[in-house]
Amino acid sequence: MDIKERIEIIDDDITRQPVHAIVNAANSSLLGGGGVDGAIHRAAGPQLLAECRTLGGCPTGQARITKGYNLPAKYVIHTVGPVWEGGDQNEDRLLENCYRNALKLAVEHDIRTIAFPSISTGIYGFPIERASRIAAKTVKAILEQEQRIEKVFFVCFGQHDYQVYQEAVKEVFGTE
Ligand code: ADP
Repeated sequence: MDIKERIEIIDDDITRQPVHAIVNAANSSLLGGGGVDGAIHRAAGPQLLAECRTLGGCPTGQARITKGYNLPAKYVIHTVGPVWEGGDQNEDRLLENCYRNALKLAVEHDIRTIAFPSISTGIYGFPIERASRIAAKTVKAILEQEQRIEKVFFVCFGQHDYQVYQEAVKEVFGTE
């Protein structure tokens, strides 16, 4: 399949996506928070927090997997994005690691379809123009070498984020 058909951007609520796994932009405690993290925990139900408590947290740039409980998705892959501190604290590389490590877990669990939120660009303040290009480049590089991932969705919350991701994907994937 053409690589451009393996990436899709949608403007929707990630908790409603009928994919094998959704990614959570968690904090390092993995014990829930605001933004997309709060939405995922609300939709999955209290068993998600109970499983997260057994994991002992997660360092920035790493990822952990749990079941999806009441979500349509079978799994949640929790990753901890970097807090934006101006750009010279290794933020780009840490954000890239989030996408890499989440997709690595996906391959290990035979996950074929996966949806990402815009990691770090909410409360963590990473500029979305820059974050979306890192997301697109990293995902493209992995899709090229890993055929077992069929499709990746970037789930944007709102028209502005959607437009920014469209531009980034056009630039990186060369779509029309
Ligand atoms: P971070 O702390 O990593 O910045 P946030 O949850 O604050 O994480 O924001 C990450 C992105 O997720 C933001 O673009 C925010 O608008 C978006 N977001 C919030 N709720 C949802 C949701 N239900 N579905 C998809 N994206 C969401």
